[in-house]
Amino acid sequence: MNPRSFLLSLLLSAMAPALLAQGPGQEGAFAGKRVLFIGIDGCRADAVTAAMERGLAPQLKMLCEGDNGLLTLKCYAGGELGTPTHQRTVSGPGWTSLLTGVWVDRHRVKDNQFLGGRFQTYAHFMRRIKEVQPRSFCASFVDWPPIHDFIADASRVGSDEFLDVKFTRAPDAKRHFIDNPEKDIEVRDAALKTLREQDPDAMFVYFGSVDEFGHGAIDERGSFSPENIIYLNAISHVDSHVGELVRAMRARPRFAEEDWLVLITTDHGGRGNSHGGDSDVERNIWLIANGPTLPRERLLDAPVPQTALVPMIYAHLGITPKPEWTPEPPKPPVGAEPKK
Ligand SMILES: [Zn+2]
Repeated sequence: MNPRSFLLSLLLSAMAPALLAQGPGQEGAFAGKRVLFIGIDGCRADAVTAAMERGLAPQLKMLCEGDNGLLTLKCYAGGELGTPTHQRTVSGPGWTSLLTGVWVDRHRVKDNQFLGGRFQTYAHFMRRIKEVQPRSFCASFVDWPPIHDFIADASRVGSDEFLDVKFTRAPDAKRHFIDNPEKDIEVRDAALKTLREQDPDAMFVYFGSVDEFGHGAIDERGSFSPENIIYLNAISHVDSHVGELVRAMRARPRFAEEDWLVLITTDHGGRGNSHGGDSDVERNIWLIANGPTLPRERLLDAPVPQTALVPMIYAHLGITPKPEWTPEPPKPPVGAEPKK
């Protein structure tokens, strides 16, 4: 390399991060409105509040406080009992409802096998974002691969990919998910890179280790309980990841012009070392929301079904839902069974 081109390359490499870091501010696909959706698998509501009270989840606590933040415990998984929307409190139906905005009577995902899922009609919310605004940037980071393999990929029209970043890591099931905390760190780091270097309009970041600690898979002393310090420590570890993501979001060069809606929730609670049933500790979940334009009163006053997050995201971005998709499914009479 001759000295002149060497100098030029130096200059360009110094400029490149600055150019990237400018960001579009309000010139983004949704006039600066953006979404950061963080999912913490199997994080029981009374345990997340215990962790906050005991100083083990300072980042989550910070996001609940102030005029821009809130925590609601009136949030629930598992559909409406006694109706066709009733679904098991397991990850397959749970994340499907959180990412599509409908219950099992529509999405048809009954368990973690995902058989019969109707994702072409009730698609992952990022497909709708991409349809409305093809130049938008959608990114998803998970260490439970079925979220990408079954929910995202099955939502595609043909082979049209709507995710600009699809980061997947698989913990080792044969080793009892012992490496799940490391996979969470890889998920965190990939999401940090996107927040720093790209202009995402919507991000979904999923952490799986809390659930595995609840199951006693990683450490046999763990269980789904606010009294279990191993479980609370697992929440604490993910809390630090949330803190790093939020710091990176707030450090974006034109953050002041952007309007980020941060949503953090879980797919189900747990009981002992398991979940899937209809007990309060499995059905009761929580939602942390943070952002300058939150619908505060509505979120604090009314019960928040797991299907409410997608409508909130659409409302924030100004997206009109498709006609076949309505946020509140009509409630059928008690005792009616879903068609097989
Ligand atoms: Zn789960």
